[in-house]
Amino acid sequence: MTKNVTWHDGFVSKEMREERNGHKGAIVWLTGLSASGKSTLARKVEEILFQHGLHVYVLDGDNVRMGLNSNLGFSPEDREENIRRVGEVAKLFADAGNIVITAFISPYRDDRQKVRAIMNEDDFVEGFIKCSVEKCIERDPKGLYQKAIDGAIPEFTGISAPYEEPENAEIIVPTDEQTVEESVEFLIDELKRMKIIE
Ligand code: ADP
Repeated sequence: MTKNVTWHDGFVSKEMREERNGHKGAIVWLTGLSASGKSTLARKVEEILFQHGLHVYVLDGDNVRMGLNSNLGFSPEDREENIRRVGEVAKLFADAGNIVITAFISPYRDDRQKVRAIMNEDDFVEGFIKCSVEKCIERDPKGLYQKAIDGAIPEFTGISAPYEEPENAEIIVPTDEQTVEESVEFLIDELKRMKIIE
């Protein structure tokens, strides 16, 4: 496995990158049911931070599953490996000085905890994108819930696969009680409160 391999630090440290960028490198880990609003909020917040000159990048579930993780499915083992790889990639992006916003269902508490564990405490915040499954079914922007209810998609989170709600998320965004604009503003305020951005 990882025998005979050591981590090499370069001459350019994370701190040097952060100083030049004017902000920290960190992971904002969004978790929540399909259609809870992870991608929508990640993209909108990314756009706003980018316009303010910050180095920000979104890692999105569908995009990663099309490439890096195209060999993984939705079994519990594959979901775990999906999140493990994405966590490592997000860590590298953060190490390169970026604010990385991830938009993965990441249904298992343990898997999210493992990502948290590879990061410095100050460089990781978990954002629970909270929306009831009933509301997600009502939204169903990609028609996936209907397919899952009809049995055409097996192991669908919230319908036929579990979602373990965070117990210690730093941020909770109740998207079923907010408009998109309200949630965007709320999330940005929370990132300020958590000192991810100023
Ligand atoms: P996910 O990435 O979690 O699967 P998406 O962002 O793709 O979810 O879809 C969420 C849907 O819910 C979008 O159609 C979005 O317009 C809608 N929506 C309604 N209210 C909100 C809100 N407060 N925050 C985010 N999305 C919302």
